[in-house]
Amino acid sequence: MAKRSITSLSSTDLSGKSVLVRVDFNVPLDDNGAISDDTRIRAALPTIRDLLGKGAKVILAAHFGRPKGQVVDGLRLTPVADRLGQLLGQPVTKTDRCIGPEAAAQAAALQPGQVLLLENVRFFEEEEKNDPAFAQQLASLAQVYVNDAFGAAHRAHASTAGVTTHLSPCVSGLLMEKELQYLQGAVEQPQRPLAAIVGGSKVSSKIGVLASLMEKCDKVLIGGGMIFTFYKARGLAVGKSLVEDDKLELARELEATARTRGVELLLPTDVVVADRFAADAASRTVSVNAIPEGWMGLDIGPDSVAAFKKALAECRTVVWNGPMGVFEFDAFAMGTNSIAMLLAERSSVGATTIIGGGDSVAAVEKAGVASKMSHISTGGGASLELLEGKVLPGVAALDDMV
Ligand code: ADP
Ligand code: MG
Repeated sequence: MAKRSITSLSSTDLSGKSVLVRVDFNVPLDDNGAISDDTRIRAALPTIRDLLGKGAKVILAAHFGRPKGQVVDGLRLTPVADRLGQLLGQPVTKTDRCIGPEAAAQAAALQPGQVLLLENVRFFEEEEKNDPAFAQQLASLAQVYVNDAFGAAHRAHASTAGVTTHLSPCVSGLLMEKELQYLQGAVEQPQRPLAAIVGGSKVSSKIGVLASLMEKCDKVLIGGGMIFTFYKARGLAVGKSLVEDDKLELARELEATARTRGVELLLPTDVVVADRFAADAASRTVSVNAIPEGWMGLDIGPDSVAAFKKALAECRTVVWNGPMGVFEFDAFAMGTNSIAMLLAERSSVGATTIIGGGDSVAAVEKAGVASKMSHISTGGGASLELLEGKVLPGVAALDDMV
């Protein structure tokens, strides 16, 4: 069921109203405590500007790091408030605690068009426990709720779920709306053929997504460390490559499902093997039938890239989750980079390309083609769960589209 978004709210609905907006401001800091990448703050600007433009009083709630229910001075949102103020071109005040009489007074003093940032919600252990009394206190600061924190939507916390019982309407922000439109749209009503490329290290971490995509896709292309479990299941020698011996049966089942459902399941035909797991390891490209004993596969080979390219040629929608190899080492980044380039190319001829997963997104950014993709997800865990077909609590808690 599609969720109601902020675009359905007009100035009449919002003017003078206090709006609690859950945002994802979990930005990385450098050694001096300065923000080293403000992408997440920038990503929230359209929603904040939309609300301010409609005359709302904006109260932002966010988590930062893992303070585990304690006040940790290094995890205060002060640098975020400053940066947000610079980006918005107006001052952003911050509370010292996210709930309590002072926060309530600051929220009450807010004027239409002003922004207040609440202190790190995870300074209270009640946040992650979705404690009803805490949620109620947080919600008491506002009337309307907007969730724009896609990256936190797979958690049922007080600020992502609990508050929605007390606020109305509860809608998605622009960033959340885009995430749902692409990630849910891709698997529910895709332009076909629909292909999924799944990689990463282990089969076990991608079982859900593989099984779910197998139900929906026309083609499933597999790379990364998990391919060796499939080869071993087929009876091939895999040397010292990553293998999950307790998942061999599962690999056979997935191959059988693909056959019965008529899904084209593509595994690489050649791999780049290394004599050890290191950036400067000796390496060579071999057929998957000839992985030498004692060597480990760390990337897919050029023949496989060519086969993947052919398979993707007529696809209208491509979803990618998980790198094709150990892309952190330049010597084993060719497969991942080639797929990134390939998807950029598909995008340029009108295909919808969607990248989900923290490392896949990092790889696409490293390859310099992020701006070419239709959608780059801001939520690693959340995007995986959505592709798995799971219901995200932070999404489920929002109002349904009317
Ligand atoms: P994502 O974050 O995009 O969902 P994952 O976290 O599942 O991706 O997997 C990323 C990791 O998989 C990377 O750190 C990469 O080095 C590793 N990986 C990819 N291919 C292999 C391989 N052949 N052997 C070992 N690790 C691999
Ligand atoms: Mg990862």
